Amino acid sequence: MSFVFQPMPVVSVPIAGQPERFPVHRIYCVGRNYEEHAKEMGFTGREPPFFFLKPTDSLVVVEAGQTGTMPYPSLTQNLHHEIELVVAIGQGGRNILAADAAKHIYGYAVGLDMTRRDLQNEMKKQGRPWCIGKAFDHSAPIGPITPIAQAGDVNQAEISLQVNGADRQRSNVAKLIWSVAETIEHLSAAWELQPGDLIYTGTPEGVAAVVAGDTLVGQVAGLGSLQIKIS
Ligand code: MN
Repeated sequence: MSFVFQPMPVVSVPIAGQPERFPVHRIYCVGRNYEEHAKEMGFTGREPPFFFLKPTDSLVVVEAGQTGTMPYPSLTQNLHHEIELVVAIGQGGRNILAADAAKHIYGYAVGLDMTRRDLQNEMKKQGRPWCIGKAFDHSAPIGPITPIAQAGDVNQAEISLQVNGADRQRSNVAKLIWSVAETIEHLSAAWELQPGDLIYTGTPEGVAAVVAGDTLVGQVAGLGSLQIKIS
């Protein structure tokens, strides 16, 4: 087969402790999935989970022990951090039950759902899609994937983010409104999941702005840390 131009390379994420890489298919994100974050965004009560997507090439892939670089994006004066647990799907499927979800998970990573909050809020107000606020270039930093067998009990893991050494977000994955397994059940009812899919599972409270020069360090216990500098 020949192409009219060179196809884009496969985007991949390193796997902790092994040379093979995880080839990425799609990036799904869950909105408002921690109660205290939903409150700070002006919402209360349990609502069905909702989803948006980011393009695969919006990933900023940070290799183990490295500091990634995210250029401050255009068109915004209010770039927000959202630290998130990321689920990496190893076995696809549709209509996966929560009870069966674990066997579809390859592993977990630490990710940031970077958000042009001013543009997202404007789109919300106008009832328009969030793409420009959420799905822009470099909007999805991610660290290495830890295979599920080595990840410990991620469902009870502390999740936190520091900016320039000061705590901004600190919570526990146990506080997810929709657990990882329930999220997979809902998501796979709407789309057929494929090996290589990533799911950003939502952020706890404490989201706030960052500026050029800031260094962000995010952790989920058992998965190591993700370090990013805004340039
Ligand atoms: Mn998010």
